[in-house]
Amino acid sequence: MTNANMVFDRFKSLAEVPDQSLSRNSTRHRRPEATEQTYTDQRHQMVQRQVVARGVTDDAVLQALETVPRHRFVAANLTHLAYRDAPLPTSHGQTISQPYVVAFMTAAAGLSPQSRVLEVGTGSGYQTAVLAELAAEVYSVELLPDLAQQAQATLAQLDYGNVHVKQGNGYEGWADYAPYDAIVVTAAPTRIPAALVDQLALGGRLVVPVGYSSQTLLVVTKRATGLATEYTIPVRFVPMVGEGEK
Ligand code: SAH
Repeated sequence: MTNANMVFDRFKSLAEVPDQSLSRNSTRHRRPEATEQTYTDQRHQMVQRQVVARGVTDDAVLQALETVPRHRFVAANLTHLAYRDAPLPTSHGQTISQPYVVAFMTAAAGLSPQSRVLEVGTGSGYQTAVLAELAAEVYSVELLPDLAQQAQATLAQLDYGNVHVKQGNGYEGWADYAPYDAIVVTAAPTRIPAALVDQLALGGRLVVPVGYSSQTLLVVTKRATGLATEYTIPVRFVPMVGEGEK
């Protein structure tokens, strides 16, 4: 038996110990308590196997992913899945993006410690936190009031003082703090929202998944001569809703 199998078997046998505190009829099982060190180790593996292995090598981005406690952004009953190579459901039918996609989008935004960033689609706040590790200020707009409030609370608990979340419609951007050096959109419109291009600084980058049920991640750079658009990886985000609504 390989070492990996032994570890797996040990985990399995622990996971299958029934939780004595639950009622006799319950089919729920007790999972071993994860420690912060377990999460730190899982995070390191996530970065190496999911992100570096797929070609994202920007040191600052990798460091941000090593730092942000992704398990704090998922529901309590899903923390054991937080570092998987997959998106996960959040409340209200939304998702927290796959770690690799977060890393790719963050690298594509081309941030510096002076950058001011707008994010559209706060969701759980995980991508927001990753951006906040790298940029000076992050402004994030979320359509659903409950999610905006929840993300704001999580980010405050984790002491992200450079993050500003508001409930609003991302099709309008957030004009008060424009222009932005980067705009990262984590819900999919079917075409590029005009207000976001307006609120982008000259030389700034807009990272946005455009399309219907599956999309292409576009990286749009605003130049004096016009927009330069790069088509990058295929992605699958929830739709950006509320176009034309205030
Ligand atoms: N970045 C998130 C993933 C967000 S999922 C994370 O890391 O967890 C997409 C989010 O976009 C959802 O929360 C959804 O409610 C939000 N959204 C959809 N349309 C929007 C709009 N027009 N303006 C702002 N947010 C929107």
